[in-house]
Amino acid sequence: MAATSAISSPSAGRLLLVEDDRELGSMLFGLFTEQGYRVDLALEGQRGLHLGLSRPYDVMIVDRGLPAVDGIELLTRLRRRAVTVPVLVLSAFGTVADRVTGLDAGAEDYLVKPFEIEELLARVRALHRRNLDHARLLPLGAGWLDPESHVVELPTGGQVTLSGQECRLLCALATRPRQVHTRASLRHRVFDGARTESIVDTYVYYLRAKLGADVVRTVRGVGYRLGGL
Ligand code: CA
Repeated sequence: MAATSAISSPSAGRLLLVEDDRELGSMLFGLFTEQGYRVDLALEGQRGLHLGLSRPYDVMIVDRGLPAVDGIELLTRLRRRAVTVPVLVLSAFGTVADRVTGLDAGAEDYLVKPFEIEELLARVRALHRRNLDHARLLPLGAGWLDPESHVVELPTGGQVTLSGQECRLLCALATRPRQVHTRASLRHRVFDGARTESIVDTYVYYLRAKLGADVVRTVRGVGYRLGGL
């Protein structure tokens, strides 16, 4: 275990492990705890679903073959409830069709049993990093805005790239999603130097044209606030 303890860290993240094989489950529990993860182990799918819906995790490892609620069903239900935590599916089935089923259900990764422990650890680390990257994204209802790349991720999985000004305006709204912003404050914060507040209206129009009418809400007589996708 010396090779793996080197990357151990007290802030490795929260991990949900759903595995009905008690021996494998407790071995993985011990392994990831040793790596610094705070691990919850669920021995069946219903418990895993309950935990996945009620607690915040950084990564989930879900065995595919579980009694009652199997791994694919569990994953489908989590995604349906907008749980976006990265999931790695463990499975005894390794055909292309099996992998496709897992990935289509919303898994980020798929590892076939038997697997090398080092590979599982590396893949979970990669998923955790991806989740941390995701943390800087701004939520837009069921979608996301990446302020750095100016890309909006749509709930359908598609992407729309915004111009710099469009992105800055949407960022201003999305960083304070419940606040109503006056046109004057938006002009000042986003379009410094513009002569009139109508530039705010123009860019709201552009955003709605690209992302749908609901993305920005008009608050009559006051200004604008974030809507959703
Ligand atoms: Ca199993």
